[in-house]
Amino acid sequence: MTRTVYVNGEYKPENEATVSIFDRGFLFADGVYEVTSVLGGKLLDFDAHAVRLQRSLDELEMRNPISKEDLLEVHRELVRANNIQEGLVYLQITRGAADRDFAYPGDDVEPTIVLFTQSKPGLANSPMAQKGMKVISIEDQRWGRRDIKTVQLLYPSMGKMAAKAAGADDAWMIEDGMVTEGTSNNAYIVKGDTIVTRHLSNEILHGITRAAVLRFAREAQMKVEERSFTLDEAKDADEAFITSASTFVMPVVDIDGKAIGTGKPGSVAARLREIYLEESLKSAI
Ligand code: PMP
Repeated sequence: MTRTVYVNGEYKPENEATVSIFDRGFLFADGVYEVTSVLGGKLLDFDAHAVRLQRSLDELEMRNPISKEDLLEVHRELVRANNIQEGLVYLQITRGAADRDFAYPGDDVEPTIVLFTQSKPGLANSPMAQKGMKVISIEDQRWGRRDIKTVQLLYPSMGKMAAKAAGADDAWMIEDGMVTEGTSNNAYIVKGDTIVTRHLSNEILHGITRAAVLRFAREAQMKVEERSFTLDEAKDADEAFITSASTFVMPVVDIDGKAIGTGKPGSVAARLREIYLEESLKSAI
């Protein structure tokens, strides 16, 4: 099926949607993105994604070409047009097309905006949630502003390939001996009754799912520590898991070939996944 996508103010069949070869997203990775999940045909946490998008744009002094109301309307129209029940909406905004120059172009250059959907039937009932994921550790070689959600995704992409080559599902990145995050998700361990995840800083993306999951965990009287943890601490944990808009809460059962806890998905991750899905659906729009 040909998807309907959105490009610079127009809805088009995907094979007719184009952007310029001079687009700064293409030439300089000068762009930001967001990914919003869809369950039951509704958007999860749309407001929080819109807030983070604005923050990413502000940090890069990039103009926002669309109001929050219009952005919501485009998301909803794409979900409707593509009949998405479970899936994802991707949004990318770049600084636009301008003659190649490292310096940013003037305000007369229109940012490029693109949105497209991915249908993912079974997203909420993923078999991976029952089985658990295997991760490997790799050095974190990304730039220093990981709090900005830019389209510079080559290193995470290389990390995924390294994981695949090692027969694993993903990679956790390590800096100065401490776990930063997964290639496209935030990382957590559980020791005793305490959930540990890295504190917010420029070193990690401020996950929208992370914020929601920590809020739900605290509401359920679970103990949460936001601090760095070492790879050794992770390997010695009772449980491990990740969060992201595309995986929700996903158990990790193996790190670098070492089984975590019992080697089976843990009860804390399972409970948080259940609470997250239930609560997020309630507020989906
Ligand atoms: N960290 C990184 C590096 C990511 O790419 C992502 C997902 N895009 C996340 C964390 C999770 O963020 P969110 O919960 O907003 O999807």
